[in-house]
Amino acid sequence: SSRAPAPRICVVGSGPAGFYTAQHILKHHDLAQVDIYEKLPVPFGLVRFGVAPDHPEVKNVINTFTHTARSDRCAYYGNVTVGRDVTVGELQQAYHAVVLSYGAEDNRVLGIPGENLSGVYSARAFVGWYNGLPENRDLKPDLSCETALILGHGNVALDIARILLSPLDFLRKTDITDCSLAALACSKVKRVWLAGRRGPLQVAFTIKELREMINLPGTQPVLNPADFTGLENAVKDAPRPRKRLTELMIKTALEKHREKAVMAQAAVPRQWGLKFQRSPQEVLPTADGMRVRGVRMALTRLEGSGDSAKAVPTGDMEELECGLVLSSIGYRSLPLDPAVPFDTQHSIIPNNLGRVMGVPGLYCSGWVKRGPVGVIITTMNDSFDTAQSVLEDLQEGVLDVSVSKEGFGAVGSILRSRGIRPVSFSEWEKIDAAEVARGKAAGKPREKIVDPQEMLQLIGH
Ligand code: FAD
Repeated sequence: SSRAPAPRICVVGSGPAGFYTAQHILKHHDLAQVDIYEKLPVPFGLVRFGVAPDHPEVKNVINTFTHTARSDRCAYYGNVTVGRDVTVGELQQAYHAVVLSYGAEDNRVLGIPGENLSGVYSARAFVGWYNGLPENRDLKPDLSCETALILGHGNVALDIARILLSPLDFLRKTDITDCSLAALACSKVKRVWLAGRRGPLQVAFTIKELREMINLPGTQPVLNPADFTGLENAVKDAPRPRKRLTELMIKTALEKHREKAVMAQAAVPRQWGLKFQRSPQEVLPTADGMRVRGVRMALTRLEGSGDSAKAVPTGDMEELECGLVLSSIGYRSLPLDPAVPFDTQHSIIPNNLGRVMGVPGLYCSGWVKRGPVGVIITTMNDSFDTAQSVLEDLQEGVLDVSVSKEGFGAVGSILRSRGIRPVSFSEWEKIDAAEVARGKAAGKPREKIVDPQEMLQLIGH
């Protein structure tokens, strides 16, 4: 019997979505070959550039991804920006199926006056800075003020608060970049507010991250008991995670309230707190108009209840003084290529179970498929669903594999003609080894190289 030709699949993006999609296809198809293209020389997306440096256990998924990348039916091509170095159309010519897993490269903006003042940063840029994301390596955030305001009540907001307030000795042992560690060592920030438009029942962070913050040595939580009045009753029948999270906030608010009377303020040098039902209206400039000095907030009341509650301005305003504003109101995906449909309202690729609407052979997974929410496990499940759609379409002949495709054979020539030299997985492993070696002396798991040129030099490109 004649052997069916090998389906050639291409994945764009090497974050969790890209790797989990590849893994599932390779596991459930004996012949399929998967090529992963990545914009940066180095793989793993937000696992490397998003996940907080003091959460190394979260990064263990890298071991699974590495296993996938070493499969002889999988290849990694870093340093290739799809949409610029090679088009999606060209990939579709070279592969039977193309899966877009390129994440969310931008952030939502507040859309209020003063947003561009110096001292205002997006969470995405700030996180990118302390995690060594090349595009943010020169951010040099100004940490010379005492009070920082984080806009947002999600886990990313808590990550940032924790990094700003952690004892330096905690961070020293992590893979946080040397340059951000030095900046944090000089930081004057000792008070961090996390403000959200809605109430305690609508916070998006999870209990593990909140508990970590509450237990952070040398810091004191400042929660206003009045914000929690009546909530114990309100969550009685809520789903268990929401109930436990709310109970922890209430317990903390009451405890600290009692303690505050006895504890001298000076004994606790650093504080953080949650502010509810406050919607930013304007970032206020210093007298010289150069920097942020505060944010004017509209107080809100809630219409409706639970997750769908809406924050409506009451008409009352409040000014919150701060010298640093970090807006953590969400990441946002961008369109990649005119050939790919894009839902500009939701900033996702319109799809049905990962099949891009109206474009046979084109798929998507991860944050660009369902929006920038959800942890790695959520992204894994959704990527397995997309992989399943690809496998079904192979099985049912929707993807015609009788036509053989050249895969990287074709794309490699295109890239060469444009002067692009991809980075292979074994070359990444050299960069990896160099980073680990650099970190060793300082007792860090690695010292990330933040300049892509330096990465390329290291592997002789
Ligand atoms: P990404 O991880 O962003 O991967 C996308 C990849 O595509 C990137 O490598 C990018 O460089 C590449 N790419 C982009 N454009 C192109 C292009 N044009 N051509 C080629 N490649 C391209 N989850 C947890 O479970 N635990 C945590 O502790 C945790 N912490 C987080 C902290 C932060 C700050 C953030 C933002 C998220 C965190 N998450 C965490 C969530 C988790 O990171 C996401 O669920 C997951 O990374 C989404 O995967 P993705 O592959 O869709 O996107």
